Formats: sequence, C-alpha cells, structure tokens
Amino acid sequence: MSTFLKRTHWCGELRREDVGCEVVINGWVHAVRKVGRISFVLVRDRTGVIQVVVGSRNPYYRVVEGLAPEDVVAVRGVVRARPPSQVNPELPTGEVEVELSELIVLSKAKPLPIPIFDPELMKTTSESVRLKYRYLDLRRPEMFFNLVSRARFLRTLRNSLDSRGFVEVETPYLARSTPEGARDFLVPSRLYPGRFYALTQSPQLFKQLLMIAGFERYYQFARCFRDEDPRADRQPEFTQLDIEMSFVTKEDVISLVEELMRETFAKTLNAELPDPLPRLTYSEALKKYGIDKPDIRFENLLEDGGEDLRVLLNAGSGESVRALRFGIGGRAAGAVREFIEGFLTHEDAIRRYYVIKGSGALLSNDESVGSELAKLLDVGVGEAVVVAVGDYVRTSEFLGGLRNALGRYLDLVRKDVFAMLWITEFPLFELNESGVLTPRHHPFTSPRPEDVSKLDVTPLDVIAQSYDLVLNGYEIGGGSIRINNRGLQEKIFTMLGLTIEEMYDRYGFLLEALDYGAPPHGGIAIGVDRLVAVALGHDSIREVIAFPKNKEMMDPMTGAPGKPPEEHLREIKWLKVLL
Ligand code: ASP
Repeated sequence: MSTFLKRTHWCGELRREDVGCEVVINGWVHAVRKVGRISFVLVRDRTGVIQVVVGSRNPYYRVVEGLAPEDVVAVRGVVRARPPSQVNPELPTGEVEVELSELIVLSKAKPLPIPIFDPELMKTTSESVRLKYRYLDLRRPEMFFNLVSRARFLRTLRNSLDSRGFVEVETPYLARSTPEGARDFLVPSRLYPGRFYALTQSPQLFKQLLMIAGFERYYQFARCFRDEDPRADRQPEFTQLDIEMSFVTKEDVISLVEELMRETFAKTLNAELPDPLPRLTYSEALKKYGIDKPDIRFENLLEDGGEDLRVLLNAGSGESVRALRFGIGGRAAGAVREFIEGFLTHEDAIRRYYVIKGSGALLSNDESVGSELAKLLDVGVGEAVVVAVGDYVRTSEFLGGLRNALGRYLDLVRKDVFAMLWITEFPLFELNESGVLTPRHHPFTSPRPEDVSKLDVTPLDVIAQSYDLVLNGYEIGGGSIRINNRGLQEKIFTMLGLTIEEMYDRYGFLLEALDYGAPPHGGIAIGVDRLVAVALGHDSIREVIAFPKNKEMMDPMTGAPGKPPEEHLREIKWLKVLL
C-alpha cells in the first residue's frame, strides 16, 4: 500500500546543526512568496515554520506555484544555511532553509473563512465565527499553547496526587441526581420510558461512597454538568479536579491543596505562591471586600457609612449603608459612569448611588442627593464613590462584585501576581429568595462540631466546616468536611424540608451506607477551566477549552443542542409529548 512521505523532522526544530541533512517535513503551507525566479514556501506544523526554497529549474516549480495557504504538504529536501543577508533572527529556524527535492500535496485548502494568522483582524472576529470554525481557530499557535499548557497543568496535578498515594477513580456520568444547587441535565431512558438519568453535577456522592469503601484518597478529573441559565462565562459542562480524603480535618485538606497548587504553579509557570496562603473568614471577606471571592491584589476596602450618611439616604434601622471609594485614574468621568451604570441595570432590592468627580461637573445617578453625598463623603477630584443601602449581605455583594470588576477595569491589579487565598467559616445555611433554608454549599457539608447544638435554635448562625479557594477574584475551588453520621445527615435533610419519603427515595443509598462504617472524610473540587484560564491570564474560560459552547450555551459548529431524529424520539416514547 502506498503511503505518503512521512516526516523525519519537525518544521520548527531545524537548526544550523542540521545543515546538509536530507529531511522530510509534513505540515501546512503557511505562506508562499515569489522573489524573481525563486519561490519561498513557509511550511508549518505545530512546532513552528521553516522556509522551503524552490528555484525555477526545479521540476516542482510549477506545482509550488499552484500552492495555496493551508494546503497540506509533504516536502523532501536538504537543509542548507541561508545566505547571511537572508537570515531571519525573528524565526527560531531563521538561519536555515530546506531546498526542495520532492513535493507531495496531501490535501488542498480553500481560502479560510477566518483570518487566523492576522492577530489584528482576529481581535475583531466575533467569537461565534471562531467557534463555528473552531478547528481553524485552534490552528492558531496561541490556542495550541493554551491547550498544551492546560495539559501540562493537569499532568502536574495528576503526578502530584499520584505521588501522594491518591487513586484516580472514574465515577458515573449517568446517575441519579447529585445536587450542587443547579438544575440537572436529564437523559431519557429508552429501556424505562418516563425515567431519566441525571448527568452528574459533581461526583460528590460517589466520592463519599469511595471513602466509605475504604479508598481513603481519591481524585478524578471529572466533567460536571449543570443546566444553569446562560451567563457570560459559564459552561453547561466543565471540568473539576475532584478530591476526597478519609480521616482528615479541614486543615489536612487545605494543606494538601496548598502543596498541589504551589507545586503546579512552580513547575508549569515558574511562579511562586505564598506559603501558607492567606486566609479570610467569610465575615471578614464580606466586611472588607464585600464578596466571598475578593481580588486582594489591590486595597480599596469597603467603608461603612456614618450617621450623617444614613440620615441623608434615609437608612432604616435594620439597613446597612456601605460604600466603595476609588480613584478613577486617567479615565474620563463619563466612561467610569458608564462602567458603573452597567452594574446598575440589574434590578436589586437595594438602593444604589454614585458620585464621580472628574475635571468637569459632578456626575451622579441621583441629582437630589449627589452634591450632598459628595460633600459628606469628601469626594476629591479624580475620585468616585458608590454607596449601597439595604440588606448587609446584598449591599456588600453588590459593592464587592463592582470592586473586583473595577480592579480590572482601572488596572489597579498587578498582572504578574497570583493572589490565591482561602475563605473559611461560611454559614452552613442561607435563605433563598423565597426565604427557605438552603445549604450554602451542599447538604453533605458538616457543621462545626461546636455548632451542632445551634441547629435547632439559630440555624443561620451555624458555621460549616467548609472552605473556598480564590484566585485573583475568581472562586476556583470549594470543599468541606462531610457529614459521616446518618442521624445528623437525616436531620439536615429534614431541616432543608425533605420528607422522610423524599429523603429515602433520593438519598436512601447514602443514608444506608453511612450505617456501615463511614470514616470522617472531606475533600474539595477545583474548577480546572477557571484555574487554567486565570493562570494563563485569560478572562474567558473558553480560551482554555477546546470545543466550548458559546454564551448562549450552543455549539455553533455542530449545532448542538440539535433535534433528534423522530425514530429516536419514538423509541424513547417521546414523540407524543413533543408533537
Ligand atoms: N462537590 C462540590 C462542588 O462541586 C465540591 C466538594 O464539596 O468537594 O462544588
């Protein structure tokens, strides 16, 4: 069987030492250029480009003239030194070229629909076009670099865990619901019409069962599926590094993760993380930064309004008045106003005001209090203050979210620093919008032992044995020590409003397992997409996912989600429902 000319060398690796060697390279035509009677072809593979030269007397000269960018070729030739005047110091292979002796066109390419090798034009190319032609977008060296870096990150984490005796175990994706506070993606069962699998929101229950099974140290790079409403940087499926350990306390999990992170950042990015990582309790974080995922690369801490301000803004006795002050840097006041307004569009149950003093008139969203506000807060020229009035947590979170975004917008953050920290001492419960008790994390999180007695009296004061890991203002992980006692687990379910029947129907297997020797255990899950994106300096996780969905949760390339063939719908007895 005939085969094609197979590579002996990678394009990007040819150097002066290879001069005189006969080589075969395989790759894509990056560019063709003709100077007088000589043609130059840049051939590219994933390692880089090499210049191939073809003189007019070469029998392949005419074939070369027909080459187009992105044609796939195999080239045989001899490496030779470029004449000194033609050395290209910008190119790692710039001292040499390949004199072509044989050329095979393996595949032709049409003109590309996106300008992948023009960085300027790429900046204005819409993301949906990039995603429609993702396989072309991925030809860009930047994208290859992102995914190779991701692979390196994952490999380092994996090696680190392996060397510490962790066992990688795969758990099912088709399962019964594993709640993490989001909606399940449901998969209809053909064999049991009317029944559904839920795609796992996380391996939470399975990893706990592995601890009961005696595995003691588990990890998995698990895909998680959550059917949430579209948000700018969410994906319906994402990857977590999921970890669980037995006979551990919160401190053991925290120190393991710190070791993993330090090792990975050092090996893959040559970056040093503080030892130990800083920690804030949830209430400290809220007080100072307003949010449980603060960007601590800059100060601008939240302030509490004094009596004068409370009076001016008619704050009720149960209401908080919190403020965020910042210098607008070189920005025009109007631009800062627009930025802040972007945060006010979302209806919130709190009252929000801002004043900005640029070089011109005072800008404010409320003329009636604007100038008085500026006076009371002593707002200087080039300064802005945003004030929120209402519920303490809501005002804080609003200002905290704005603060994190402002840090990036106003360039207050140092780009070369990885600000990783822990947030601890979260409340075990919170009230949802309808005022119903819900778990802050998930219902398997253990309360602090000293708080168990508060469960019946002041449940909202109970502190969880949980911890979140934050990097540069993004939550990149979270975990907890779990409940390993059936009675307590049933109690928590009951507090969350589950009847005995519901509890047994959904979680009977877990409750039963807790009766057969469940060691104390705990763990964490790290969001790999976000971790890698932040580590590489990208705002969007889509830059580090090979084939992501777009912001509308669709895949413009394959057309997912698509309509299944009628036959299939008939098989799962759904046709009637849909028509
Ligand atoms: N299962 C949790 C989550 O996905 C993480 C954990 O508690 O380990 O957020």
